Amino acid sequence: MAETNLMDQHAPERTDSLDALDAPTLIRPGRLPRRSALSHLQPLEEAPSGSVHNVNALRARFWGVRGSYPLTTTQGTRVGGATTCLEMRYRRHIVIIDAGSGIIALGEALASEWRGVPPDKRPSLTLLFTHAHHDHLCGLPFFAPLYDPNAQITFIGPDLAGMRFAEIIAGYMRSPYFPVDFSELPSQRRLYSIGDGARLIWTPDSEEPQIIHKDDGEMADEVDEARTYPVRRESATLSAEAMYSTLHPRDGTLIYRLSAADHSLVFATDVEVGSRGEEADARFVRFAQGADLLAHDAQYSAEDYFGLGEKATVRGFGHSTPEMAAQVARAAGVKRLALIHHNPAYDDAAIEALANEARRHFPDVVVAHEGLELTLGEGAL
Ligand SMILES: [Zn+2]
Ligand SMILES: [Zn+2]
Repeated sequence: MAETNLMDQHAPERTDSLDALDAPTLIRPGRLPRRSALSHLQPLEEAPSGSVHNVNALRARFWGVRGSYPLTTTQGTRVGGATTCLEMRYRRHIVIIDAGSGIIALGEALASEWRGVPPDKRPSLTLLFTHAHHDHLCGLPFFAPLYDPNAQITFIGPDLAGMRFAEIIAGYMRSPYFPVDFSELPSQRRLYSIGDGARLIWTPDSEEPQIIHKDDGEMADEVDEARTYPVRRESATLSAEAMYSTLHPRDGTLIYRLSAADHSLVFATDVEVGSRGEEADARFVRFAQGADLLAHDAQYSAEDYFGLGEKATVRGFGHSTPEMAAQVARAAGVKRLALIHHNPAYDDAAIEALANEARRHFPDVVVAHEGLELTLGEGAL
């Protein structure tokens, strides 16, 4: 597709420097965070507090936006120090993408929200996983609902490196890595593997989504046809689609597209545009086509991505520059771009500079920060 040629200039050869699965970062001592750096950013629409159920809008809240490793709170910045976690709400469903350290505060918020609420009055709770790198799992053992006997949690994610998804999750919480074994947790948990093209559908009363795999016989055609977006227009239905992407080293990652009430959000963390050639980029652009919001990895400044010399390159580590993210946003015709997976070595000012770089190529760019809440629908976009 012609539009993806935009990315050709960033199509480096893959290198052998992939032993570091998530990128090491470039420490820049002495930089102090500037808390005011992002103060001009406004959410699309502040969702009313307290009305967490039965709203006809798709709401997103970022609980963790860093890549690679969490920063401690004493290093706190306006962007925040927790790693990847996004919460989406639609009517009585909560869908969380990734369990980086941001999920810890989310779990505490859910625990207090549900205190005294009978189990059958609670929202459904689904955790989607993009991949299994540490920065996307490290908050899971400390996610309060895991320890709540009344919590029903559905886990959905990819099989990776020859392991089933359930093995990957259970293996993260067992001796000698963690004192509590996943199998002994008091909550009720169901785990499902999905792959490329899988579609998830939450109907109003369902506790977990219906899963339609791409290779489910006749259903496969239906899924493929659904690739012309926007997908189904039943306003009571929340749906998600997964695309397996090779734009992240070794095992790849799932990119998710959540849709409800004619609005959609694409969550593309840990992607390095241009690292796998034109067709991989074109597939990604098609998948993101026309989304209201594209949350896209923008871990490295162009200076760091291109300027470190042949022996110290971060190319091939599976992350993008803001310009790459902006080019995807433009090629896919999305309405707004949110930059995510911020480099923990960058302070607020450096990250805001990345946003300005992206704005040279795409008009509507926000820096995702902890606590940023965006509402899609009801005229919000
Ligand atoms: Zn990551
Ligand atoms: Zn990763």
